Amino acid sequence: MIFVFNWKMNPTKKEEAKSLFGFYYQSLKKKNLKKIIIAPPFLYLPLFFKKGIPLAAQNCFYQGKGPYTGEISPLMLKSFQIKYVILGHSERRRYAKETNEEVAKKAKVAIENNLTPIICFGEEKKEKNLREKNIFSQLKPFSFLFQKKFSQKKIFLAYEPVWAIGTGLPCPLVEVERIALKIKKFFGQENFTNYLFLYGGSLNSNNIRNYYSSLVDGFLIGGASLKKKEVKKILTLVNS
Ligand code: PEP
Repeated sequence: MIFVFNWKMNPTKKEEAKSLFGFYYQSLKKKNLKKIIIAPPFLYLPLFFKKGIPLAAQNCFYQGKGPYTGEISPLMLKSFQIKYVILGHSERRRYAKETNEEVAKKAKVAIENNLTPIICFGEEKKEKNLREKNIFSQLKPFSFLFQKKFSQKKIFLAYEPVWAIGTGLPCPLVEVERIALKIKKFFGQENFTNYLFLYGGSLNSNNIRNYYSSLVDGFLIGGASLKKKEVKKILTLVNS
């Protein structure tokens, strides 16, 4: 199981970020440092990258360099030894109006630069009949992964139904498993199998154990990643 902690746009002060990161570091047994990934805001990445806990950026651009004011290149992440990048989070789709095609373009460039993208997807509304249609229209631009040169590349696919994010209403495990199987079928038919399937949406220290399943390889945790009490309990699970 891999645990990805997404701090989103928090905390606002460098000292708080250092204290939170230190708390993670102290709560983890040294042998388990690599079982988690922390995704802090960009500015904090260089503060932590030598500590041994893998880090993820929360976004990157689909060009390597050039006149793209305000963007961060995958090459820059690489030069800071950042190995992971979250792409297509629903909050970026919502507030930065990122499209499926843009997310796929970013993922392609990230992979070409040996970063592992954590690609987020998931339906907006809890309408069962539209769920699969929405999910597969989000994933369609990722068919570039079926090219031979990508077949051995590792990616994370994070199923995050938007209605479950930050709402206290996680998606029931049976539904998560159903999506995991559909994804397996979708990518498996083209022999693209080198991915991990993650679930994210209102996970916390009380419910995360319910999501341990042979079909779920890990978790994406938002709100709970900022609360030390929650972090402590979740990391106790990681250590056990
Ligand atoms: C997220 O934003 O990726 C997420 C899973 O958030 P939360 O855990 O707060 O639902």
